[in-house]
Amino acid sequence: MFSKILIANRGEIACRVIDSCRRMGVATVAVYSDADRGARHVAMADQAVHLGGPAPADSYLRGDAIIQAALDTGAQAIHPGYGFLSENPDFVDAVEAAGLTFIGPSASAIRAMGLKDAAKALMEEAGVPVVPGYHGEDQDPDHLSRQADSIGYPVLIKAVAGGGGKGMRRVDDPKDFADALASAQSEARNAFGNPAVLIEKYILQPRHIEVQVFGDGSRAVYLFERDCSLQRRHQKVIEEAPAPGMTEEMRKIMGAAAVRAAEAIGYKGAGTIEFIVDGSDGLRPDGFWFMEMNTRLQVEHPVTEAITGVDLVEWQLRVASGEPLPARQEDLQINGHSFEARLYAEDVPAGFLPATGTLAHLHFPEGARIETGVRQGDVISPWYDPMIAKVVTHGPTRAIALRALETALVDTEVAGSVTNLDFLIALTRHEGFRKGEVDTGLIERDLDDLIASSEAEGAARALAVIGLAGLADPDVKGGATLWQPLRRTIAWDGGEAVLEVLGPGAARVTMEDESHEVRWQGDRWWVDGALRRNRIVSHDAGVSVFGGRTVHLVPRDPLDRDASAAGGDALTLSPMPGLVKAVHVKAGQEVKAGDRLAVLEAMKMEHSLTAARDGVVAEILAGPGDQVEAGAPLIRLEEVEE
Ligand code: ADP
Ligand code: ADP
Ligand code: MG
Repeated sequence: MFSKILIANRGEIACRVIDSCRRMGVATVAVYSDADRGARHVAMADQAVHLGGPAPADSYLRGDAIIQAALDTGAQAIHPGYGFLSENPDFVDAVEAAGLTFIGPSASAIRAMGLKDAAKALMEEAGVPVVPGYHGEDQDPDHLSRQADSIGYPVLIKAVAGGGGKGMRRVDDPKDFADALASAQSEARNAFGNPAVLIEKYILQPRHIEVQVFGDGSRAVYLFERDCSLQRRHQKVIEEAPAPGMTEEMRKIMGAAAVRAAEAIGYKGAGTIEFIVDGSDGLRPDGFWFMEMNTRLQVEHPVTEAITGVDLVEWQLRVASGEPLPARQEDLQINGHSFEARLYAEDVPAGFLPATGTLAHLHFPEGARIETGVRQGDVISPWYDPMIAKVVTHGPTRAIALRALETALVDTEVAGSVTNLDFLIALTRHEGFRKGEVDTGLIERDLDDLIASSEAEGAARALAVIGLAGLADPDVKGGATLWQPLRRTIAWDGGEAVLEVLGPGAARVTMEDESHEVRWQGDRWWVDGALRRNRIVSHDAGVSVFGGRTVHLVPRDPLDRDASAAGGDALTLSPMPGLVKAVHVKAGQEVKAGDRLAVLEAMKMEHSLTAARDGVVAEILAGPGDQVEAGAPLIRLEEVEE
């Protein structure tokens, strides 16, 4: 076994790898960018080496600097995590040329699976079913269009170099083919520097089911399947293992196909074979097709660990250090059911755009496995994936594990950025999902309901007002203190309410067009007679209410007026250099905290810029098409009057 390894990554996955290393007694070296000086992964590692500026190209993608850091610190091997350099065969070559071990597959295995067309051809040869379609060299538009006709509509155009859902277009009607082709090609050229595409049959009611494989360079085993059908923008949101409705027969057939795929390329380490499955008529052994292989540890690997009891990172280290496969196929068994939800700083109603912020309050519940790279007070910066945590649960049955996920999410508390938490909770309560009726279109079909169906906002807001009034404070609870008037106005940035104390543990909160009676006893809260599972939390950025429907209010304190005017929650600044894509508000418009103000394109991603507080837009300082610097003021809200 290695005595020291370097982790060429950041965030939750770097922390995840360090966890296993600690258990195994392997020393760790972290690397970090300027943006990550105080990051959790740096604090957790035994040693840390600074790489450079916050942009990935100046830090986590600098293969040469990372290899030098490993040599300088005496690390024997490099774990790449996922993303960044994990699927870069040239990096693998360079690591090996430096006399170090890459914890992952060989460069040639990564190359074989790097392009979707070549991978499909290779899989066909290995006898693995592939999605019917055209994956040849000829990229002539007329030729591709004739291929689409013979495949039969609907078809999916895919960039052969694609990843992260980019360069993909579904086409339902032949008359739209030419335009869709041109736009897929141009997106692929921009994102991957390679405009080549393949054409596939679009599978109706598709399910995404993938098989975890593990190889030693010649033989491989499979660690069963994960269902990742709950997706938005072709990206996973909640994953589970095993797949609902999977039969023993089909599991064996899919597992064997995945093992054939891995062995065909002499695969070493952890990998995932992604299949698209026709879910229109139950799961059938002739209804699954190879889509692609991810030649790395997958984001959602914890659900596989939960049902198999295997530590996949430990296996990665063992096999990379020359040990044989830690288990035979017949040693592996499924135990219960597991779910993972990806908690992101993102703006769901704006189309799941990444968001940023300082985590003023962060609390995770007991009873779930939490994989995170951040702590309270840390910043979700615009430079990297805005993931806050993965929340993983395990139970003897699917229903119990899903219930545990719902509970864990309801008990999770994040303040300081908009998040997808309420959306995830709504998903765990979705009737079809509860029944195991999943397909990749579920989220989009029911999006409006999923956004709206999280619990009514009014009741949570009333509780936040109670919090602002100081009545949720443990010392005060049970009633008003003597010096408090029975009736007063509670104001926050952008709104106010009248609070009437009705007696010990009872108050009425009246806002613009609604009025709620709140009663409390200890930590329990009733709004309009209904017991609610809410927590009221005060923190640096104000007061938050959690538990199904998240509400944040920032107190309006007359003494703080100058500070807040100077401190600039009135100003929305550009978090990084980028291009203003759209401005969604006008001067004079009223906005609520969390509302989308503008969209900034930076680092090839769109970022949603949201209002820090309720208020009225005073001035728009940048317009669509403007190239802006980091820190440039974009939108100003009116000062708050008290
Ligand atoms: P998974 O199935 O594991 O979610 P994805 O393909 O969605 O796989 O990506 C996994 C991670 O890799 C994501 O968090 C994403 O940030 C990163 N990633 C995906 N594609 C790229 C890319 N082209 N360049 C850099 N990072 C990428
Ligand atoms: P990426 O490299 O971007 O992850 P994939 O080929 O894995 O690309 O496809 C991403 C997602 O697109 C899948 O998880 C699935 O939801 C959808 N998809 C891919 N191929 C098909 C298809 N032939 N029919 C229907 N949906 C598909
Ligand atoms: Mg994929």
